[in-house]
Amino acid sequence: MNDFHYRDGELWCEETPIARIAKEVGTPFYLYSDRTLKHHFRVFDEAFKDVPHIVCFAAKANSNIAILKIFINEGGGVDIVSGGELYRAMQAGVNPEKVVYSGVGKKVDEIEYALEAGILLFNVESSQELRVINECAKKLGKVAGIALRVNPDVDPGTHPHISTGLKKNKFGIDIQRSLEEYREARKLEHIDIKGVSCHIGSQVTKVSPFVDALDRLKELINFLRKDGLEIRYLDLGGGLGITYDQETAPHPSEYAKAMMDASKNMECTFIFEPGRVIAGNAGILVTEVLYTKSNEEKNFVVVDAGMNDLIRPSLYNSYHKIQRVTGEGGDEIVADVVGPICESGDYLAKGRKISRFERGDLMAVMSAGAYGFTMSSNYNSRGRIPEVLVSDDRFHVIRKRETYADLIRGETIPDYLKRTASKQV
Ligand SMILES: *Cc1c(COP(=O)(O)O)cnc(C)c1O
Repeated sequence: MNDFHYRDGELWCEETPIARIAKEVGTPFYLYSDRTLKHHFRVFDEAFKDVPHIVCFAAKANSNIAILKIFINEGGGVDIVSGGELYRAMQAGVNPEKVVYSGVGKKVDEIEYALEAGILLFNVESSQELRVINECAKKLGKVAGIALRVNPDVDPGTHPHISTGLKKNKFGIDIQRSLEEYREARKLEHIDIKGVSCHIGSQVTKVSPFVDALDRLKELINFLRKDGLEIRYLDLGGGLGITYDQETAPHPSEYAKAMMDASKNMECTFIFEPGRVIAGNAGILVTEVLYTKSNEEKNFVVVDAGMNDLIRPSLYNSYHKIQRVTGEGGDEIVADVVGPICESGDYLAKGRKISRFERGDLMAVMSAGAYGFTMSSNYNSRGRIPEVLVSDDRFHVIRKRETYADLIRGETIPDYLKRTASKQV
């Protein structure tokens, strides 16, 4: 389903013309469709309706509190990877019993914050971390729910930067070693072993790696249960891919069917941590064309959004469709769509066949709802751009554009520097 569609040659989001939003909030900005977000969440959630499960949206994909609230209203939980994300989830009103905490480098203050909040479980990534969590829980007079994040050593067949379930990746605990680790965990008084977890990577476009990982986890769970451990939760992570260009990704129902078939009679509550599959195609980046120029070799379209706003093309060489928001669009040309940042790596599309854009045209960079705003920065002292949520024929600015004053908030010039008057030249 797509709530970004053309009406009389103009791109709309739901019942709202995007050009109208651009006129009011200026460019560039991120735009999300409430209807698409809800739809994607429901499709995923309903695919698992026959088994007990919690869908914990991966906040790192899109952590705006309004977006988190949409999923929370749908009964979802949140997968966090930092204290900051926990804070956001709490501000959005999450039920802490539906929060799972992932990540290889949890700090003591973050662990304590999560314990105070009463989250469901920590996905533990090392034996040291397990001991630190036990110490923190002891200090606070609490018991920490945990699952060990095991590394099943399967190749998700995705970009090396976003594969996480291989031995060479920094994530998780070796599946062979995990058995021993579980035995150690049992001895810790402030640890409540709740389950097993894994996350094999992102933008996975086949079902088979998920099935392979699940098969390995199943074996482990059987061992653990024979050992007398009660495994109540199985966290299968996130990672389901989406279509950016031509790639085909499994529909959530296909993924769900494969997971259910592979886990018959497991008697546990499943946890899923989808991010991209929910938010990716529910958002776009809207930018204005500043200039066009050409040399003998190339055409360039210079737009007002750069790699600081959307870093995925520069970082992973990832593909985002380029579409026109308004205007006729002349003949097609091959061009690089580049931003204003002083880096050659600053591009949104490279060698792309697009219709001819002119100065002042609005451009939509599609599939930017996940890992878009959350990975943005202030590089080149550019204020971070607004986020806008459309619901039917209304739009809501859910994050304001940063001002120049926002840029230097928290910065100070120490007194000793102030004493020196500017040098005369
Ligand atoms: C990033 C991440 C996710 C979400 O991944 P998607 O590919 O966006 O679904 C889920 N769980 C963990 C542990 C992650 O690191």
